[in-house]
Amino acid sequence: MMNVPERKQANAPSIAADWLARFAAALSAQDAAAAAQLFLPEGMWRDVLAFTWTIRTHYGRSEIEVMLRDTLARTKPCNFIIPPERTLPRWVSRAGTDCIETILEFDTAFGRANAILRLVPDRENRMLAWTLNTNLQELRGHEEAYKRPEAQEDTRDFGGKSWLERRREDAAYADRDPAVLVIGAGQAGLAIGARLRQLGIDTLIVDRHARIGDNWRTRYASLTLHNERHVNHLPYMPFPPTWPVYLSEGHASQLVRSLRRRDGIERLERYSADRRPL
Ligand SMILES: Cc1cc2nc3c(=O)[nH]c(=O)nc-3n(C[C@H](O)[C@H](O)[C@H](O)COP(=O)(O)OP(=O)(O)OC[C@H]3O[C@@H](n4cnc5c(N)ncnc54)[C@H](O)[C@@H]3O)c2cc1C
Repeated sequence: MMNVPERKQANAPSIAADWLARFAAALSAQDAAAAAQLFLPEGMWRDVLAFTWTIRTHYGRSEIEVMLRDTLARTKPCNFIIPPERTLPRWVSRAGTDCIETILEFDTAFGRANAILRLVPDRENRMLAWTLNTNLQELRGHEEAYKRPEAQEDTRDFGGKSWLERRREDAAYADRDPAVLVIGAGQAGLAIGARLRQLGIDTLIVDRHARIGDNWRTRYASLTLHNERHVNHLPYMPFPPTWPVYLSEGHASQLVRSLRRRDGIERLERYSADRRPL
């Protein structure tokens, strides 16, 4: 027999599924007001590209309703699911508030998206959204592909160009301009550059620091990252299993430097003020 906390935890999936069914029905009917009523009066919806094509937080029902009126017709969100392979809905404490936290996935007219939903009871004990975070994961037709660079035709020619020569030529941008210029080679710049490269998009990253990783190296020697390593991974390059739980500035700078050096992203380069690749 389940005790009270176990019964409460066991009910979390059905409560989340019930809220999601009502939310999906409101969105499918293009009913912005009904969807907004599923939030607490002080509820928040932070959207990262999925609905608004920007990063914006909407506070309270009326802001949420306005955002949905502007975006629902073109976004056409559908196919909402609670993915069974991810962490299932469960009661957790977030910022001192007990809530049911749920991971969602859905489609839009543009691509695949996911969301984190937090439900809390209102004064009448109805479970309503306290926070919803929606994220566009990838664009349809441009899904992320994990590719190895193809071998050059003259790979077996020992007199041929080395990897480093090719990389330098490529990074010189002597005969072309990049399709994308990323300003800032920190975690975010390197991660977006690596992903664009995998999509076959010619990307140049520039930084005002002398070396990649200096954004960490130039802080203070005793620095460690604030979060545990499993939430700090960079794309395509998990941290070595022997590294500590809280990475030092040395680990962080070494990692971002090696991400830039990896075979697959050799076009990512830092330029000095006179556009000389370093
Ligand atoms: C001590 C400490 C611990 C942290 N721990 C964590 C953690 O564990 N997990 C976490 O997610 N976050 C952590 N953070 C926050 C962390 O800084 C950011 O998550 C991460 O570095 C953000 O990466 P970013 O690429 O957006 O910015 P940054 O790392 O700040 O990189 C920005 C880059 O842009 C360059 N730049 C800026 N302006 C220009 C310009 N005009 N022209 C050219 N280049 C420019 C800078 O030189 C820099 O290299 C921590 C921060 C500190 C200080």
